[in-house]
Amino acid sequence: MEKEIWVLIEHREKEIEEASLEVLVEARRLAKKARLRVAALVLGSSAQPFAEALNRYGADRICAVPHELLKQYTTDGYTTALADLVKIRCPEIFLLAATALGRDLAPRLATRLQIGLISDCRVLDINKEGALEMTRPSTGGRVYTRFEGSGAKPCMATIRPGVLGLGKPLKGNKAEVEEISMDLKSEDVRTRVLGISSVDRRDLDISEAEFVLAFGRGLGEKSNLIKMEALADEMNACIAGSRVAVDEGYVSFERQIGQTGKTISPKVIFCCGISGAQQFTMGMRESGFIVAINNNRKADIFKVADISVLGDLNEVVPELVEVLKSSK
Ligand SMILES: Cc1cc2nc3c(=O)[nH]c(=O)nc-3n(C[C@H](O)[C@H](O)[C@H](O)COP(=O)(O)OP(=O)(O)OC[C@H]3O[C@@H](n4cnc5c(N)ncnc54)[C@H](O)[C@@H]3O)c2cc1C
Repeated sequence: MEKEIWVLIEHREKEIEEASLEVLVEARRLAKKARLRVAALVLGSSAQPFAEALNRYGADRICAVPHELLKQYTTDGYTTALADLVKIRCPEIFLLAATALGRDLAPRLATRLQIGLISDCRVLDINKEGALEMTRPSTGGRVYTRFEGSGAKPCMATIRPGVLGLGKPLKGNKAEVEEISMDLKSEDVRTRVLGISSVDRRDLDISEAEFVLAFGRGLGEKSNLIKMEALADEMNACIAGSRVAVDEGYVSFERQIGQTGKTISPKVIFCCGISGAQQFTMGMRESGFIVAINNNRKADIFKVADISVLGDLNEVVPELVEVLKSSK
């Protein structure tokens, strides 16, 4: 059997999570360097609904386990199924997206297999010795640490979503498909999913949100919140704030970004009336695209922003809302 990099493919309602495709694209790049093949693992479904996307993003092989007990994600079910597969097939590298599922599953699987795990990586590479190198932030994002995967196989890592991107899809790639039947028993899975309900964007954990609208002391007064909510509605964004925004009672503590709050990396973040103190930016500088609105041209937030808007947020935000409304 040829040596492989495995990528776990997360899917929901016949849609693949984009974060898994990002990992697949990265696995393809690494596989070229290390002369490995890329296998995409689909649990709880046949390969068919996902084959086209997995071909486009670089799978050499799709390995599907369409077992009834894997239809809904459970830590037990996925851990048992994947641990059994790993023991039989012995992949060289196993990559997952650092999504809520990946963060739950990867440590459990690594422990079951008695192997190491480097979580939340930003950069991966293959070094001259052919080993996987994994780089991730440490000490609250102040330094980056590089690890070499030279221990027990597979070398396992999770990758922060939204960092690597998808790039151009491939044309004409056709993965082999293998469907595996597995002897998974209901007593192997201690939890049952009784139902799934969607969470209102307003109640979403800010570290899970793709779009975040953050504000700080520059909001001025609580009555201005209405303007922010109008923009959040148009952006389909989750609301968050600096520590001052929490101290002023504009947002609750679980929505605080930064050293003593949460570290987030949404696809897009708007920072309105936030100065950009280091304790704030260490919680958001890994975001995919940063827009800052501030009335002080020397504000530090502009140093990390992709787009800097110099102006009063009380004027800029309502104008943005109008532009977004009319562009729909
Ligand atoms: C140990 C420690 C831990 C900390 N942890 C955190 C943390 O987790 N998160 C955090 O955020 N902070 C944290 N802080 C506090 C941090 O140092 C800053 O004080 C805080 O981030 C500042 O919040 P701010 O940007 O909202 O306010 P300010 O620094 O006061 O900035 C307000 C900004 O709004 C702009 N502004 C004002 N009016 C307008 C307007 N009308 N339109 C547009 N712009 C306007 C101003 O130009 C200014 O840049 C911590 C501090 C310490 C010492």
